Amino acid sequence: MPDTNAPLHAIELIQRPSTTPDDRGCQDYLESVLEPLGFTRTCINTGGITNSIYQRRGEKTGCLAFVGHTDVVPCGPVEQWPHPPFAAVIENDVLHGRGAQDMKGGIACWLAALEQLIEKNAPLPSMQLLITSDEEGESIDGTIRIVEALQEGHTLPDAAIVGEPSSSEEVGDVIRRGRRGVVQVTVLFKGKQGHSAYPHDATNAVHLAAPVLNRITHTDWGETTPGFPPTTCQITNIQAGTGAINVIPGTCSISLDIRYNPGIDFDGIRKRLYESCDGVDAALDIRHQARAFSTPDGVFLDLVESSIRRVTGIVTKRDTGGGTSDGRFLAAAGIPVAELGLTNSTIHQIGECVAVAELETLTNIYIDIIIHFGASCKTLGG
Ligand SMILES: [Zn+2]
Repeated sequence: MPDTNAPLHAIELIQRPSTTPDDRGCQDYLESVLEPLGFTRTCINTGGITNSIYQRRGEKTGCLAFVGHTDVVPCGPVEQWPHPPFAAVIENDVLHGRGAQDMKGGIACWLAALEQLIEKNAPLPSMQLLITSDEEGESIDGTIRIVEALQEGHTLPDAAIVGEPSSSEEVGDVIRRGRRGVVQVTVLFKGKQGHSAYPHDATNAVHLAAPVLNRITHTDWGETTPGFPPTTCQITNIQAGTGAINVIPGTCSISLDIRYNPGIDFDGIRKRLYESCDGVDAALDIRHQARAFSTPDGVFLDLVESSIRRVTGIVTKRDTGGGTSDGRFLAAAGIPVAELGLTNSTIHQIGECVAVAELETLTNIYIDIIIHFGASCKTLGG
């Protein structure tokens, strides 16, 4: 039998079908586990989102937060799952279910770590769990609202572990210390609709778009900050035409998804986009969805890395790959952030699952981080 409660907590959470942005009682379950451990809960529910701050005053100085989400992505065709996605079946020491890796399993490990430490009366730093049901969706009323509340109350933590599934082959082989930024763009080209046999009396919006698309795909996005993937720009949608083959389209709409390296900033991206559209009748809608962030080398990342090495023997890679994460809201408030969680081999897929052994390993790493955080938090710089 496993020597932690992590599988049990993961089963309880998976069995609550919290498709984003529903919480379905997951955060009430957390309260039922955390309250006997001395935590109080503050709810910050806005826009139909469930957000909770669980806090416990420590016996040592410093405050360490765990950041997570209880919402999961939709299951897709349920009949294609080897086990029902919310049944939380364990078969051959593998736990199956939506959220097993992303990231109910990670939350379960943090709960189990706290239980083990507090039951042994280990002196702990102050602890926070910052939990939202709005990570997989819009992320408009989720972790950002929690961070605002902490800022207002002057109760921001000294550092944060984000429990997203950062690991690649085995637990702890990769932590994420930052992410690229996100800019999303819609460009509407305006021509004049007409008969394709009479082009002199029309302006083809696709022909307006074509050279712009060519320029955008050949844009030099400038310097690349080391440690981050380069800036990439993908054309993700093109819409034009009436469906009839003999009608010149009067409008053409394209959308772009840009993931930017911190070697360029939002203004630099905007400037290049306008240059690409120069001289063309086009309306640009440019949205800065997420700022790039990075926790610098320092005591906190060293601490996380040492804990992983003590528990698993693995030498961790500090990475900034993948999409953005809620870590950006903490980083924007000046908090050192490390994302450390389970492996991500089946996240968002049909048949998401996690090995029970991984839950035990991650719990042990979390325990080690919490213990040693107390010892080094005074020197926490960045
Ligand atoms: Zn996630």
